[in-house]
Amino acid sequence: MMTLARELFDADLSFHCPACENAVVRKGSWIKSSKVFICEACSAQTRLTYRLKLAIFDAHLRRQP
Ligand SMILES: [Zn+2]
Repeated sequence: MMTLARELFDADLSFHCPACENAVVRKGSWIKSSKVFICEACSAQTRLTYRLKLAIFDAHLRRQP
C-alpha cells in the first residue's frame, strides 16, 4: 500500500492548479492535512484527494536533481 512519505512533510512540494496551471508550492505536511486547495491566481477550488496527494508526493520523488 502506498503512503505519503513522512520525509517529505517538511519539504517544499510543487504542483499546478488544474484550472489555470499556476505553479504552487506547499509543504508536504500542508498537502497531507488539507482537503481543498484554493488557487491564488484563479480562485478555483481543487479537492485534494488521497490519489492526488500521492501523485504530488510521487512527482517530487521522481524529479530530476
Ligand atoms: Zn488556478
